[in-house]
Amino acid sequence: MITIQGKGVSKGIAKGPLYFFQRPDTTVTQKTVTDIEAEKVRLAVAQAASIEQLNILVEKCQEDAGEEMATLFETHAMFVEDEDFVEYITSLIEEESCNAEYAVEQAGEQFSAMFAAMDDSYMQARAADIKDVTKRILNNLLGVVDGGINSDVPVILAADDLAPSETLQLDKSKILGFVTQGGSGNSHTAILARTMGIPAICGAGEALQENYHGRASYIDGETGQLIIDPDALTLAALKEKFEKQQETKRLLETMKGKEDVTLDGKKLLLYCNIGSPEDVAAVQANDGQGIGLFRSEFLYLSASDYPSEDEQFEAYRSVASAMNGKRVVIRTLDIGADKQVDYFDMKKEENPALGVRAIRICLNRPEIFRTQLRALYRASVYGKIAIMFPMITSVWEVKECKRACQSVMNELEAEGIPYDKDTELGIMIETPASIFVAEELAKLVDFFSIGTNDLTQYTLACDRQANNLGKFYDPHHPALLRAIKMAADAAHKAGIWIGICGELGADISMLPTFLAMGIDELSVSPAAVLPVRAAIRQSIAKICTLEMLEC
Ligand code: PEP
Ligand code: MG
Repeated sequence: MITIQGKGVSKGIAKGPLYFFQRPDTTVTQKTVTDIEAEKVRLAVAQAASIEQLNILVEKCQEDAGEEMATLFETHAMFVEDEDFVEYITSLIEEESCNAEYAVEQAGEQFSAMFAAMDDSYMQARAADIKDVTKRILNNLLGVVDGGINSDVPVILAADDLAPSETLQLDKSKILGFVTQGGSGNSHTAILARTMGIPAICGAGEALQENYHGRASYIDGETGQLIIDPDALTLAALKEKFEKQQETKRLLETMKGKEDVTLDGKKLLLYCNIGSPEDVAAVQANDGQGIGLFRSEFLYLSASDYPSEDEQFEAYRSVASAMNGKRVVIRTLDIGADKQVDYFDMKKEENPALGVRAIRICLNRPEIFRTQLRALYRASVYGKIAIMFPMITSVWEVKECKRACQSVMNELEAEGIPYDKDTELGIMIETPASIFVAEELAKLVDFFSIGTNDLTQYTLACDRQANNLGKFYDPHHPALLRAIKMAADAAHKAGIWIGICGELGADISMLPTFLAMGIDELSVSPAAVLPVRAAIRQSIAKICTLEMLEC
């Protein structure tokens, strides 16, 4: 038996084979081939595999993601066999005696550049589709499995650490739990695990070795232990804990359909945090009453070029309609710091967390902001969308955001495109500066949402990603709690609602303090909805006090 101690960042017990994340090498080099015909056969096999994968995606979309996505994949399948595209590849193989990978990559670059240069914005947007199709054929030629998990059975995924773009591409149906050498409770792997409601451990360090790949393992997200080949006694204890966990889950099921109200009648809005339209299924399955934070950066992180207005519109529309009139707070682009995107061509920064991230990118590059705002306003008529701006520090930033929104609304009006002019606008309170000017900010917006992950980082001057800062990164620190109280008072003075969308929102031990502050909304990972609801329904708001604010 091997026991590896890390930090539990998402509760629960999972059992399965340990699987080390494969980081595929997809670099393509030009090679000279002698057997041209064999190269063409390789190409045909990769095309057939791509079409088969796309057909499966079409079927899957028809079942659960809607016709529009299905049509998109149908178009991709058609493009795999497009006469001009295939002709370009085969002539290159024949004329230059080159490998199929090189020819496909060249064709992809050529065709996507051609579409990107077209005048029509619809045709321009197709450049991204061509890149996607090219990547799929290349993966099939290189034997690379998208999602990094080449296993027929679900696994416990092990990795050094996972980048945000890597977590987005994972085939989630194959993952029972996560264990990473690095990372922290705020890493994207941890957030993803909590969204999926599966256990996760981070900071396992060097003890987590690749040669454990394939071994029967358990992870305990509560104790933070990874146990490989447990002995009989440990196995019995793990099984007992697993049974209890299942029993708790069964009990929590009874919370579905119940109101989020305390014993003395104080109602709370209990919403969910999501990272992609796929997560809406988990929101519905857990009876979330809305979406309090939709991290829109998934669109940028999972693409190889700027997502077009239409692509963004489709993503926002699908979430808004699926939520059927329930509030969906969509946060505008929050990249930079730990979320890097190559095609943004950002300069390397000494202190990226204090650099050009989030709203600073949008205000510096108005075209990117405008595209996203147009997509958001166009989608606003399909449900109840609210727009939220991240990393705000100053009043002038909010005024500029509002000006950008007004200008987009004017454009849509002139173009006769419908939008909801009453779309709520809010800001994330996640910097100390926003706390100190909260009264002025509150007069400008419809709501505040507190990002406790960043507010802790910036208030305590403590890197949220570092796994060696442990006790120093303390979201219960009185400085932070007083900051939240100041924001809540400012919001209520201005008559707007205030929520918490950082990870602290799901911390049940904080509920009495939040109730005492009069917090109106909690936005938590879908898997946390039912436990938080159970806690709300056992609370008495009137007797809650602000004791925790004391040092
Ligand atoms: C936060 O900072 O608390 C937050 C919710 O946003 P993110 O974790 O995406 O920075
Ligand atoms: Mg944040």
